[in-house]
Amino acid sequence: MVYDAVIIGGGACGLMCSAQAGLLGKRTLLLERNDKLGAKILISGGGRCNFTNLHTSPTNFISENPNFLHSVFSRWSVEDTLSFFRCYGGIIGEEKTLGQLFPKSNKAKDVVSMFSKLMYETHQDVWLQTEVRSVEKLDGGYSVHLLRQGVEERLHCSKLVIASGGLPVGKLGASDLALRVARHFGLSVVPTAPALVPLTITGKDADWYASLAGNSIFARVFNSKISFEENILFTHWGLSGPAILQISSYWRPGDTFTIDLLPKFRLEELIKTERSLGGKRTVGQLLQGYFTRKFVDALAKFIPVHVKIASLSKVDAKLIIDVVHRFPVKPAGDKGYDKAEVMRGGVSTTELNAGTLESKRYPGLYFGGEAVDITGWLGGFNFQWAWSSGHAIAQDL
Ligand SMILES: Cc1cc2nc3c(=O)[nH]c(=O)nc-3n(C[C@H](O)[C@H](O)[C@H](O)COP(=O)(O)OP(=O)(O)OC[C@H]3O[C@@H](n4cnc5c(N)ncnc54)[C@H](O)[C@@H]3O)c2cc1C
Repeated sequence: MVYDAVIIGGGACGLMCSAQAGLLGKRTLLLERNDKLGAKILISGGGRCNFTNLHTSPTNFISENPNFLHSVFSRWSVEDTLSFFRCYGGIIGEEKTLGQLFPKSNKAKDVVSMFSKLMYETHQDVWLQTEVRSVEKLDGGYSVHLLRQGVEERLHCSKLVIASGGLPVGKLGASDLALRVARHFGLSVVPTAPALVPLTITGKDADWYASLAGNSIFARVFNSKISFEENILFTHWGLSGPAILQISSYWRPGDTFTIDLLPKFRLEELIKTERSLGGKRTVGQLLQGYFTRKFVDALAKFIPVHVKIASLSKVDAKLIIDVVHRFPVKPAGDKGYDKAEVMRGGVSTTELNAGTLESKRYPGLYFGGEAVDITGWLGGFNFQWAWSSGHAIAQDL
């Protein structure tokens, strides 16, 4: 069989690429090392798949060149994702929070079924349990060295799509293939790191964080560049929760960031009001209107919770305001690729044509999805990038 293209990776990008190629009347062969398609889609969003975000724009992505996204999103937008899911999968998007869309059925498997059906109907071939080991350049194409159900083979193709994702979560099939191929071909790779990942705390404050394990607080987490208002979660080893995952993508080892523990209120104002009422309550009693008893007890490590507001000195008032609104955090590290939702960095966009994602130096070689130096925020942005890039590549096959 002579295919228009070989696609490596049966995740979000590879599936969209194959399905779109099928709709254009092309034939592709998709190679996937797992024994099923869409392993990450199936577990994403807690099995419900947050498949896009209504507010998607290049500002929701980290990349050395976020402007690269304008071209890709102008060709396949959030509206296109929504109508595609509705038309081919009967999947209606339902907004949960902050523009995050999930299938109304709450079933991620509906998304994978939609792609499988479409690929079957458009005669796309799929080889499961097929691991690509390496790729070589040939005259007029590429040679793909693979291990298919234990047997080594070589495939030749004129167009090759690398949609093999990033490094997170090895047990779901992740591999470094895209990075290896890029380096082998001398393409520039932006340094990679776990992103959307929980952060660890060690040292003298570790016990304080552990004592709050399981407690969640709505907070604003920020550094000099960016700010996120969502929940944070204390754990036995440090911090997690959406706001922490978001800031983790901007965090570098050694960095400090700040948490405003009470972002919807100004403590100065609350103290002033309390004083005008006589200031009979203690700092702890005032804070208990906004935090759990457990959390106020924990704050006692840093601030005088038993002092009455009426007798609070200026210095103590400033300390309390600082701790509540400017709580500094210096993580020791992150939980690594096994707990990360995505990889930061990847194949540099400078190597790729913004319209087609084809390598500028190697005609017929394409990179899409997480393998590329485009990393979305938490909230459906990473899938939107995967769908958009898969679509862009398919148009060129
Ligand atoms: C726990 C978790 C939850 C997430 N939830 C969401 C969410 O709700 N919304 C969102 O937008 N994003 C979410 N993400 C991120 C999202 O899953 C990824 O951004 C997206 O899957 C990337 O798509 P991709 O096609 O580039 O890569 P992948 O989906 O990772 O697909 C790559 C595929 O290539 C295969 N492969 C790798 N190496 C080889 C090889 N050598 N040979 C053959 N096949 C190979 C892999 O097995 C895999 O199936 C989540 C991630 C995780 C880990």
